[in-house]
Amino acid sequence: MNKKIAKTDSERVKRAVEVAKNAHEGQFRKTGEPYIVHPLAVKKILEEWGMDEDTIIAGILHDTVEDTDLTLDDIRKEFGDSVAFLVDGVTKLSTARDGMRDIDTYLPATKDNFLRLMIALGDDIRVLIIKLADRLHNLRTLSALPPDKQRKIAKETLEIFAPLADRLNMGLLRVELSDLSFKYVDPRRFEELKKLIETRNKSAEKSLKKIEEEVTAALKKEKIKFELSGRVKSVYSLHKKLAKYDQNINAVYDLTALRVIVDDVTDCYLALGIIHSLYTPMNGRIKDYIAMPKQNGYQSIHTTVITKDKHVVEFQIRTKEMHEYAERGLAASFYYNEQKLTENYKKGKIEHLPTNLLWITELQMTAAKLREGKKVDLKKLKINLFADKIFVYTPKGDIIDLPKGALPLDFAYRLHSEIGDHVVGVKINGKMSNLNKKLEQGDIVEILTSKNQTPKTSWLDRIITSHARTKLLHALRPSTIPDRPAKKKRK
Ligand code: MN
Repeated sequence: MNKKIAKTDSERVKRAVEVAKNAHEGQFRKTGEPYIVHPLAVKKILEEWGMDEDTIIAGILHDTVEDTDLTLDDIRKEFGDSVAFLVDGVTKLSTARDGMRDIDTYLPATKDNFLRLMIALGDDIRVLIIKLADRLHNLRTLSALPPDKQRKIAKETLEIFAPLADRLNMGLLRVELSDLSFKYVDPRRFEELKKLIETRNKSAEKSLKKIEEEVTAALKKEKIKFELSGRVKSVYSLHKKLAKYDQNINAVYDLTALRVIVDDVTDCYLALGIIHSLYTPMNGRIKDYIAMPKQNGYQSIHTTVITKDKHVVEFQIRTKEMHEYAERGLAASFYYNEQKLTENYKKGKIEHLPTNLLWITELQMTAAKLREGKKVDLKKLKINLFADKIFVYTPKGDIIDLPKGALPLDFAYRLHSEIGDHVVGVKINGKMSNLNKKLEQGDIVEILTSKNQTPKTSWLDRIITSHARTKLLHALRPSTIPDRPAKKKRK
């Protein structure tokens, strides 16, 4: 596959650089460098992702409307509607995050990241791609900011932007965003795990080399064209996996993985067969994401095997196209479809979209309806941008985001501790339910309270969020610590 990079020496691009330079003249980054360094870095990232010229120009100009005297009209006159549209989208997205005023004119009752992102998506998916490039450069230069800001931005990146990159199947970006952020959110843990990965890889080096040789010989013998490479697990994904397996590193089988990249799907399955004839596959560890792609469109066959020397290795087998898509995701599909993709989005045509990207269309249609003030059945929306979160509603339509598996009391304490402390029951989607019922994406939750109710110790088993736990423990304290007189009134 020839990686085409947008022509960035075009007159339009040169002119955009000039305009941005003039506009940001006299402004400086926290790093002390002239401000223009930032838009130019964003330009470079977008070029590397293979984005089209309009996106690159909008990337160069992305901070001008918000931070300089340049207006959207100036940009429209000089660079056309499409660029102006994109710059406007990026500006809206950041003002939405800061003040939430702009978006409130669209959606008065909603102050939720998810919907704000949807609105931006509904305008043009390229807005998000520029925003991701912007975030990536800001993270790369995060050390210049004061520690509290570092943590805030890093946390937001881990919670919103890295999952978003994952949702768009931009694998390389996800890894860079999450590892850069994790380093600021938990520096000690980051160093600890980084060392752990290095040590493990070092000790596995020899046996891995032997395995590579064996696999190479076997694949060559069957005349399969392939590339073989090692892939190192990212620090943050190891952190997440360890949390899942009680910190038992021996349960993490994909710490080192070998990637086999072949020409076509048939060769993927042939390679799988060859690997399984060399080594013993582990029970239940074969995942065929080619036949059943992940929700973000990711495709590969994963298999974990045990070698004769009792080494455990994961193999990931995929075609070149699948590999390209796994690393660059949505940006890669722009490479194939170029601007037509976006024009088709706007016309509501979806035939040019790969099926694994249909969820984007679904998002856009929803966003369009919301903008028109129409009612939207969010339950019908099958996609979930943030895999570990659910979004539920109050009867008034306020959106509350909670971790997956959250229970009604988590919801109640999120609304207010006064509500949490006095829960007597819950209605989910208009029906009486009980406090053990896990909330699901899109549920409308109504909490019933009574002034006579008091918090119960047994509720501790009916909450999963630390927020609710803290509030509940606080409320329980007077009665559980006998030495202290119970307070009559709490605020
Ligand atoms: Mn910026």
